[in-house]
Amino acid sequence: MALLRLSHAIKAISSEEVKGLGLTPMQAQTLLWIRFTKPFLSSVGRLAQALGVTHVTAIGVIDALERDGLVARQVSPFDRRVTLLRLTPAGEEVVQRLESFGQTLETALDTLNDHELAALERGLGAIVWSLHAGGLLQVAEACRGCVYFRENVAPGSSEPHRCELIERFLSEQDAKLACPDYAPENPHGLLPIAAE
Ligand code: SF4
Repeated sequence: MALLRLSHAIKAISSEEVKGLGLTPMQAQTLLWIRFTKPFLSSVGRLAQALGVTHVTAIGVIDALERDGLVARQVSPFDRRVTLLRLTPAGEEVVQRLESFGQTLETALDTLNDHELAALERGLGAIVWSLHAGGLLQVAEACRGCVYFRENVAPGSSEPHRCELIERFLSEQDAKLACPDYAPENPHGLLPIAAE
């Protein structure tokens, strides 16, 4: 019951926090997702998975953001069948103004002491990874801690790291951005952390 109440509160808080920017919570989530996801993974399909909506709904969100000049589509240089999403300069500006997104919830968490916070993180982490295992929630993370990540295998190169899953070298910037294929060695008790 507490989780249900929390879920309702988060929806209300999200709406309130983005109202001044003329965005819906889903549009705000989309802009943040594009900003913090590795650029070669920012496809419409992956956005739909991240938002937990259908492909058609995700396209509707993107169309509206594109009309507002905040998002642009780009053909993937790796696979011409895939369209990748990019922020326009105006989109980047809006994302900077979204920095306080989630601040109300963080302020509420300030009322907990360290012990209570650690227990909450462990409990929520278990729920998050259980939902992830059931295919109900996508958890995107930066590369470090992923079983496929090979750090600094090409020292001195502009792309010193490597992902064994997609068999590609990665720059430090790419490694710091979120990936929906992140696979932790031991997911239990972990919470998603902000990329970068
Ligand atoms: S699968 Fe793992 S190592 Fe590969 S890009 Fe994603 S997070 Fe990084």
